[in-house]
Amino acid sequence: MADRSGKPRRLLKAFLLTLPVLVLMAMMATQGRPLPEDPIELIPIIVAFLFIVGLFFLIVYTGRTHRYRSILFVTYAVCFVISFISNLFEVRGSMALTEEEMIQGHTPFCHMVIPMTVIPAALSRTIIFPGSMLQGFAAIGPMLILWLGASITLGRGWCSWACFYGGLDEGFSKIGRKPIIKRIKKKWTYLPFAVLLAIMVSSAATLTPTYCAWLCPFKTVTEYAEVTSATTLLQAGIFLPLFFGLVIVMPILTKRRTQCGLFCPMGAFQSFTNKVNIFDVRVAADKCVQCGRCVETCPTFCIDAESIKKGRTRITCTKCGGCIDECPKDAISYHIKGTRVGVKPQTARMMFVYPAFLFLSIMGSGMMAGAAYRMLLLITTGNVIQ
Ligand code: SF4
Ligand code: SF4
Repeated sequence: MADRSGKPRRLLKAFLLTLPVLVLMAMMATQGRPLPEDPIELIPIIVAFLFIVGLFFLIVYTGRTHRYRSILFVTYAVCFVISFISNLFEVRGSMALTEEEMIQGHTPFCHMVIPMTVIPAALSRTIIFPGSMLQGFAAIGPMLILWLGASITLGRGWCSWACFYGGLDEGFSKIGRKPIIKRIKKKWTYLPFAVLLAIMVSSAATLTPTYCAWLCPFKTVTEYAEVTSATTLLQAGIFLPLFFGLVIVMPILTKRRTQCGLFCPMGAFQSFTNKVNIFDVRVAADKCVQCGRCVETCPTFCIDAESIKKGRTRITCTKCGGCIDECPKDAISYHIKGTRVGVKPQTARMMFVYPAFLFLSIMGSGMMAGAAYRMLLLITTGNVIQ
């Protein structure tokens, strides 16, 4: 859905539309304080700033959302892993979490826990997670507020614009030119809902976040319970293959986000927020020539012939923009609920992209600057930790 006006006009328009992001990012980078003088601290901030603003400019200028979102999203996930692991080694000297640290609540809260907390919080008004409500790195309160804000604004767009894990399987899905496994049966796309139900019930029954304890593949690249018993050994024997299978191998073989589309219970949970969100992605069925490109492109299995006929994507849509960029007939567009489909699609797109990009930038800029800082530290001192 590219803008077909003249080049200088397009450049000017893109520049003007990028200005708010440029100003906001500059304010975030400085946070009212003078910039650091030490080049090792200053260079990462400038690099992150230019990278983020440059990608927003390209989203506006080219009219392509998914391609540049994806670059930022994957970079964000990689930088999250680098920053998180470096911080752990700096603070704790290890990625392994001891029982004592867990009891004391020295664990950052992660949005993956949210579905598991719902029933126990409703029944007993307790959050079944050993983290701190307000203090320390990724405390429960600020994370819940961030998640709530993103859910109201983006719905399941969270999974393509805010989640710090989603870029990992997205990144691996970019490896290779063609998928080796071409078809995934539709029934598998319901698996995340089954996992969601299982973890909600088991967490309520045991008053522990069972997905974190037993199934989360991302413990491989963040933190995990120290292996000191048969139970913790079994846990490691589960999360490691899940990570390699769902986040690395299957995305390479299918060129899809298999962890997000076929397993993640948080993604399934987040799908319901698409119902209360004002944005959706709609298909003008009269323009569609049934080429199937959108179905092949969708990284998370969220559009099919049946949904196209109904003029929409499935409830699981992460609003990544992939099908919109790919459709040769401009039949798919971002849409504001309650307005006519296909009317002023560029306005609807920008109204969605501004808050979505802002969430991605807010969540990602610190991680990117942090990872760039670690890399500079490695180059200059030979060590990523101080
Ligand atoms: S249906 Fe389109 S916008 Fe939704 S997740 Fe799939 S490719 Fe992205
Ligand atoms: S890519 Fe566009 S034209 Fe092709 S099937 Fe999808 S909606 Fe129809």
